Amino acid sequence: PSPLGPTPKLVIDLERLAQLPKEKAGALARYAATIQSQRGDYNGKVLSIRQEDLRSLAVIYDKSPSELTEELINWGVLDPEARRAVESF
Ligand code: C2E
Ligand code: C2E
Ligand code: C2E
Repeated sequence: PSPLGPTPKLVIDLERLAQLPKEKAGALARYAATIQSQRGDYNGKVLSIRQEDLRSLAVIYDKSPSELTEELINWGVLDPEARRAVESF
């Protein structure tokens, strides 16, 4: 096990996501809305997503999972801790 503890979760900041321009964040916003709808989870300020979902989103954004993670950290949608979640890919 890592000395830094267990692999952190990928937690999307939904309030920050809602502030971003659609050209950038539209695809991610639709993806997150779909997961919320499938779970019936509408009241959260954040949404924990599957590692698999980050892979799918990377394909959608035509980036590697680590490149997309950096972008989402820059946007303020993911915490910098998320880097460790993607290292295990
Ligand atoms: P499913 O994948 O067949 O999961 C059925 C139920 O198992 C989920 O119901 C949830 O209660 C539980 N479950 C499955 N994986 C996890 C997990 O990693 N963590 C936790 N805490 N519970 C888990 P739920 O939440 O009502 O979701 C219903 C269906 O919606 C899921 O069926 C899946 O098809 C979809 N879904 C929900 N959240 C996600 C997601 O984050 N990513 C993807 N790709 N699909 C999701
Ligand atoms: P945590 O995973 O650190 O989450 C802290 C808080 O962030 C949660 O408090 C909740 O308010 C919010 N949060 C995180 N992910 C989501 C999400 O996908 N949707 C929504 N609506 N809110 C989210 P909460 O609910 O009181 O849970 C406290 C702790 O209980 C969680 O800490 C976690 O350790 C555990 N827990 C709650 N639900 C699950 C779950 O589905 N799976 C697992 N393994 N642990 C859970
Ligand atoms: P979590 O609930 O703490 O689950 C952590 C990891 O345990 C998941 O990472 C997954 O590898 C495994 N796991 C937990 N429950 C199940 C399950 O029912 N089936 C399978 N095959 N694996 C399971 P993962 O997939 O990266 O998900 C990260 C977090 O995203 C989960 O943390 C949970 O907060 C959220 N999540 C993912 N899928 C669902 C879902 O279907 N419904 C809900 N409500 N939350 C989900």
